[in-house]
Amino acid sequence: MAHEDFMREAIKEGRTALESGNRPFACVLIKDGQVVARSYNRVVEDQDPTSHAELNIVRSFCSENRITDLSDYAMYTDAEPCAMCSSAIAWANLSMVAFGADRNDGPFDYPRQVDLSCEEVIRRSGRQVKVVPHILREECAALFKEFSQT
Ligand SMILES: [Zn+2]
Repeated sequence: MAHEDFMREAIKEGRTALESGNRPFACVLIKDGQVVARSYNRVVEDQDPTSHAELNIVRSFCSENRITDLSDYAMYTDAEPCAMCSSAIAWANLSMVAFGADRNDGPFDYPRQVDLSCEEVIRRSGRQVKVVPHILREECAALFKEFSQT
């Protein structure tokens, strides 16, 4: 599967989030060309401001599989990971993170958040996580546009 196929899986998860009353931030975890986990933002559902898709997937997948190192895994997320999630991606030592919309694309409320790009957080972490921006950027941004109109 190509970058776009995995991103479509993340978008599909984002749509599930939207339909269940959550924010459409979503991601999938990939190993050996297979989707092994999915997650979306549960801030509203959990009443937890840290319940972001990327953090959720790292926590639950590592816990369920009794591992702390995701160097054999890649993540596809529909929006650029925030500084908190980018840090979690570095801590988990993922091999790659690909994102769709970037933090300047959508109605993401970023002014209230830590204004650091995913690439900068990863670079400063010293980890070797490859960052691939803007996979299906328009389709991802459209999901957030739809969300902002609900
Ligand atoms: Zn986040």
